[in-house]
Amino acid sequence: MKLLVLGRDGQVGTALQKLLPAVGDVVALGREGADFEVPGRLAEIVKRERPDVIINAAAYTAVDKAEREPERAARINAGAPGELAEAAAKAGAWLIHYSTDYVFDGSGDRPWVETDATAPLSVYGRTKRDGEVLIGKSGAKHLIFRTSWVHAPGGNNFIAKMLKLAAERDELKVIDDQVGAPTSALLIAEVTAKAIELIGEGRAPASGIYHLAAAGETTWNGYARFAIADAMARGARMKVTPERVLKVPTTAFPTPAQRPLNSRLSTGKLREALSIVLPDWQDDVRLTLDALIAEPTS
Ligand code: NDP
Repeated sequence: MKLLVLGRDGQVGTALQKLLPAVGDVVALGREGADFEVPGRLAEIVKRERPDVIINAAAYTAVDKAEREPERAARINAGAPGELAEAAAKAGAWLIHYSTDYVFDGSGDRPWVETDATAPLSVYGRTKRDGEVLIGKSGAKHLIFRTSWVHAPGGNNFIAKMLKLAAERDELKVIDDQVGAPTSALLIAEVTAKAIELIGEGRAPASGIYHLAAAGETTWNGYARFAIADAMARGARMKVTPERVLKVPTTAFPTPAQRPLNSRLSTGKLREALSIVLPDWQDDVRLTLDALIAEPTS
């Protein structure tokens, strides 16, 4: 099967490039090869490459900056994926796309299911939701994986930031009232590979939205404490012990974009459709730490 990966240089794109060659012939394009801001570009690429499955990992993910650039975020997260889906429909290709827990308003404490009403609190969340709707309307065969709190080795991610700060400071303050599940780019790529395998075997899951997150739940504070404790257990020298990661409310760190307090995603639909077991978030974070801490931090 021919696979076209877009957004190859992001967290998920990088993981896809590692895992997808096992399930198909991969053509992976970054911003230079497939700029989502150029109208018509994606349709041209689909026509040229004739993929069986398109995997779109490109997105405008700067959540706070999106509040200042709503049109650009809308183009990259909604308009372009909509065009891509139309091109996929014309070509008879599958489209696999990623979305976010930020499509919800974060109310309550029950894990969100796919049929729950969306009510994004931010430009980012709204544009990602608009992208889902356009893909749904396009007539393309599609899988939209809504995920949360994505981590990967390298890059400017939460784990790397916490470990750096914990090595430098005596005390950290981390939000303790947003609840969700950190999910690795590698896990997202594994699930994507499994879905592609099923498509190739003619046993594709039904088109639609699926929630994809590691099992269990925590807060950003619990996540930071876990990463710091795990790094220390591996011999990393930290000034901050997990107990010195103080719990503060979201209101302690005002940001331009509002985040949902309840980011729990119910993953039953995905687990059943793909016959998979999702790992606990702690095991998933450990895998990212394995790659991140090749040597103890000093
Ligand atoms: P990243 O920010 O790591 O990667 C996004 C990629 O999109 C980057 O490689 C970026 O290119 C590319 N991109 C941005 N603008 C354009 C453009 N105009 N044309 C082409 N490419 C562009 O995101 P993730 O890998 O973390 O996210 C993957 C998916 O998961 C996205 O759909 C995101 O919305 C979703 N998601 C992410 C979460 C997270 O915590 N990160 C949480 C929930 C969902 P460049 O490298 O050149 O900047």
